[in-house]
Amino acid sequence: MNEMFLMKLGEVVLKGANKRQFENRLRHNVRRRMEPFGNFDVYILQSTVYIQPMDDQADLDGAWEACHSIFGVVSLCRCRPCEKNVDAIYDAVEAYLGDDLDMAESFKVESKRSDKAFPLTSIALSQEIGGRLAEAHPDCLVDVHHPAYTVYVEVRDLAAYVHGPAEPGAGGLPTGVGGRGMCLLSGGIDSPVAAYMMARRGMEIECVHFFSYPYTSQLAKDKVLELARLVTKYCGRMTVNVVPFTEIQEAIRDNCPEEYFTLIMRRFMMEISQRIGRNDGCGALITGENLGQVASQTMEAMAVTGAVVDMPIFMPLVGMDKEQIVTIARHIGTMDTSILPYEDCCTVFTPKHPKTKPTLGQVEHAERKLDREALIQRAIEGVEKVTVRYADAPLL
Ligand code: ATP
Ligand code: MG
Repeated sequence: MNEMFLMKLGEVVLKGANKRQFENRLRHNVRRRMEPFGNFDVYILQSTVYIQPMDDQADLDGAWEACHSIFGVVSLCRCRPCEKNVDAIYDAVEAYLGDDLDMAESFKVESKRSDKAFPLTSIALSQEIGGRLAEAHPDCLVDVHHPAYTVYVEVRDLAAYVHGPAEPGAGGLPTGVGGRGMCLLSGGIDSPVAAYMMARRGMEIECVHFFSYPYTSQLAKDKVLELARLVTKYCGRMTVNVVPFTEIQEAIRDNCPEEYFTLIMRRFMMEISQRIGRNDGCGALITGENLGQVASQTMEAMAVTGAVVDMPIFMPLVGMDKEQIVTIARHIGTMDTSILPYEDCCTVFTPKHPKTKPTLGQVEHAERKLDREALIQRAIEGVEKVTVRYADAPLL
């Protein structure tokens, strides 16, 4: 089948070295994402990614679906390449899009000519192809203002390409151009959405999950790994660092005033995440925090938990309403898994009256009996690094 995909690059008018970096990264990401679907040639010319199957074995439908979740792309289409002459272009349209035209009430042809050596102007080419199509499809009327169907003809450097309407791409920036971030991933609704949002801005994502066996179950851990797997649909394979957190939680319970439990626990999470992240080349932490959602998400509480780290903390959901977050969670397919009932370590030893307006001095005083450094060291020594790929079997 003589078919391939074109994807148009997104965002800003990129220049110079940035543009090269952007394109190299995107090409790398696309190649990797096409791997499970067969042999594809992937190249970028004139701000367009060309994805061409190299043999008949390629799974075009699978590859096409995967293309919709690659960041850095504004729009994409399946197309048929052909020689750069009017007869070949007409034949390609007829063979590739003839059935669509038969089903439409009206149509127009829109041509673009980036190869200025092509003898016809865009308008003349549209008229010529449109005229021939109108004769061949008498029930489909020409309507240049409000056509039910548009035939696109692009005369480019290597070939001409014909296609129907394009579809929207995943938007954002290619994963990897924004550096690497460590996302604190719980089993809730918010943190997978936060990971997706930052991946969409070009960040490569690594995750850390704090796991309090036996207070939280193996199922709770599988749920988190499954959420990570769902997010890799967008950001590519990732590492999830599973951190044993039981000892720290018990030490907090036994040595600290109850109203500070959650805050102290979150300070450990931040500090451990930063240390693992720094080791793995991360330049920022990412959380699903949302102002005012729970007691530990007041401005004062965030200041106290953020005080233990010096990496920037990205909280892409901080100003959103729950409804907006849920809409994104449904869109990316994590919602149904997030609402499965398995408990998170945050719900273990939850204080009845958590402190909502803590000061740093109060919290430091509340945790003074803990040997923070030794607890952190032991937790980091116990980290299990799990590699998660979208092609892995679902865990739940
Ligand atoms: P979420 O829906 O992401 O769980 P939440 O609204 O339940 O968020 P909290 O439980 O206060 O809020 O957690 C705030 C953030 O802290 C989470 O979004 C996540 O980034 C991080 N976090 C919470 N629990 C864990 C955990 N067990 N492991 C790793 N990160 C966690
Ligand atoms: Mg939570």
